[in-house]
Amino acid sequence: MSYVDEIIEQVIKENPAEPEFHQAVKEVLDSLRVVVDANEKAFRRDALLERLVNPERQIKFRVPWIDDNGQVHVNTGYRVQFNSAIGPYKGGLRLHPSVNLGIIKFLGFEQIFKNSLTGLPIGGGKGGSNFDPKGKSDREIMAFCQSFMLELYKYVGADTDVPAGDIGTGAREIGYMFGQYKRIRGLFEGVLTGKGLSYGGSLARTEATGYGLLYITEEMLKCNGHNVEGKTVTVSGSGNVAIYAIEKAEQMGAKVVTCSDSDGWVYDSDGIDVAALKEIKEVKRQRLTEYKKYRPNSEYHKGKGVWAVKSDIALPCATQNELDLENAKLLVKNGVIAVCEGANMPTTLEATEYLQANGVLFLPGKAANAGGVATSALEMSQNSERLHWSFEKVDARLKQIMIDLFHNLDAAAKKYGMDHNYVAGANIAGFEKVVDAMTAQGI
Ligand code: GLU
Repeated sequence: MSYVDEIIEQVIKENPAEPEFHQAVKEVLDSLRVVVDANEKAFRRDALLERLVNPERQIKFRVPWIDDNGQVHVNTGYRVQFNSAIGPYKGGLRLHPSVNLGIIKFLGFEQIFKNSLTGLPIGGGKGGSNFDPKGKSDREIMAFCQSFMLELYKYVGADTDVPAGDIGTGAREIGYMFGQYKRIRGLFEGVLTGKGLSYGGSLARTEATGYGLLYITEEMLKCNGHNVEGKTVTVSGSGNVAIYAIEKAEQMGAKVVTCSDSDGWVYDSDGIDVAALKEIKEVKRQRLTEYKKYRPNSEYHKGKGVWAVKSDIALPCATQNELDLENAKLLVKNGVIAVCEGANMPTTLEATEYLQANGVLFLPGKAANAGGVATSALEMSQNSERLHWSFEKVDARLKQIMIDLFHNLDAAAKKYGMDHNYVAGANIAGFEKVVDAMTAQGI
């Protein structure tokens, strides 16, 4: 049995009931076969794959907090410090009822390669809790965040592990956590990114994941004889990634016709009104059912359905495994040119293979959404030098990072004779740098 197959089997056996983690490991290792097989003896001797798929550290803790009626609740908190070969652990905190160790491990594992691809010195980590922020008051959110940091502070720091936002964690939550860290440690340092602008946050960090997604999509399209301008785009999700992906796509001259939340989705044939979307989601924290009040001609549908809408470019920006084989078939039937993942692993393995086999340009999340964490690294730089860069400077750096990232993964794919396989290109390019650093640093 090959080394790769052995490790995949081992991961499945040793981490039962973690299907998302298995899926991520399988996807990455499958595309690394070309590299691993050629160096199998040395890789086996150094147990490189065992070291890669086992987190350096996993922390699991109790998070008690009191609701507005005086009731005590207990959630579970996690931080998985996966790999620090190329820099301090870096990755978001997900607050969602679906969170468990397997989900955090899949996200942490992906983060290693994503962070490596940015070209910046950041290792891979991820954390979060099964806490459900939906419907909670501001005070309840604060109580949870403070309790969460009361434990997490022991393991994080500007030079060790720098968490950030993810699903359920935005500027408000980061603010409460930052305040708590400072209270406990007495340290004003860049321990978190995605901070508010008044206390060390970076301009353009809010926009970065969505904007970066469009910058890299444009670069990939350009290299394949297309561009974003004039295209019809379908987007899923309506959180931070989706909102700024829609904004940038429209600025580039595309028409975005859909967005969604966990209850339903919107179709707006005139193009999504981003100002209305921001008002609903960011200011009022409401559901998408409200959208029709701003745009009476739009349609609201319950359930799922975004991928049945005809488009040239599909941008899944909601959550993992939201785009399955059936959806992929619909997209291909409707002539989609490109699918670029704004979320982390939103496309199932079968759907990814189907899209690739049918000539769709497919950009995986670890490349396509890397603009968020890349700009987090720029926030870390600004904190270290105690300076604040202009929006234009950060945005220009972000754009260049995304362009370089595409060419880096494109070159890796070509080098191993897998032209246009951007999944393989991203995994190989991300892996090579990490493995080089791991090897150099010894066992
Ligand atoms: N949660 C984001 C991601 O999946 C951002 C992480 C960060 O900025 O550290 O990459």
